[in-house]
Amino acid sequence: MLKGKSAVITGSTSGIGAGVATALAEAGVNVMLNGFGNAAQIEDMRASLAGRTGVKVLHSGADMSKPEEIEALVMEAEREFGHLDILVNNAGLQFVSPVQDFPSAKWEQILAINLSSNFYTIKAALPGMQARNFGRIINIASAHGLVASPFKSAYVAAKHGVVGLTKTVALEVAETAITCNAICPGYVKTPLVEGQIKDQAKVHGMSEEALVQIAPRVGYGL
Ligand code: NAD
Repeated sequence: MLKGKSAVITGSTSGIGAGVATALAEAGVNVMLNGFGNAAQIEDMRASLAGRTGVKVLHSGADMSKPEEIEALVMEAEREFGHLDILVNNAGLQFVSPVQDFPSAKWEQILAINLSSNFYTIKAALPGMQARNFGRIINIASAHGLVASPFKSAYVAAKHGVVGLTKTVALEVAETAITCNAICPGYVKTPLVEGQIKDQAKVHGMSEEALVQIAPRVGYGL
């Protein structure tokens, strides 16, 4: 069913996005990877995924905080694959700080990458999906799209926004063969969470192992 389809997965050089891209490629989907990192490692990942699965695998370094680069990413996928069927909005960052100390630039960056990028990818991808009357839009929100934790004002606000955007787009495409859904994962041990474990263990003067044991209960900012 997925064989021959094409997908863009934002933020797929690491963590959840890399997992989604791998699973889609293994199911026969051509994939456009996106994200930052070591150029040689990204090229290794791209080439080995393509070699192992036989699908077309490309990488774009488009910055999800820049609307014109986001539009170019979607256009490149449509041009290279001939059609873009699946859009996975996954790129995301976290920053943990009390709201009164939260750096304004971090707020702007997290809102741009975690929320606005979803708007710009969808805006660019929808006309093609509508013309072909097929599309699957999957936004990786978070449990923080549904509930809050202290010290994560930008992340929680952005992820609640992703859930709202998802509902709105789903209604707008409801009478077509396009769907728009959000996934709200709990903790997944990726580089994003590993960085927080290290920081929070230091802040609270405990070992990383001890923090992981109690953080889900006391909300130590993971
Ligand atoms: P990660 O840090 O492992 O991966 C983030 C990816 O986003 C990387 O590929 C990175 O290069 C890319 N990225 C960052 N800034 C970018 C930019 N400006 N432009 C393009 N790409 C950029 O993180 P992860 O844990 O895999 O998180 C992926 C998504 O899942 C995020 O939206 C995150 O909020 C969400 N999520 C994660 C968890 C968790 O526990 N890990 C839980 C719920 C939701």
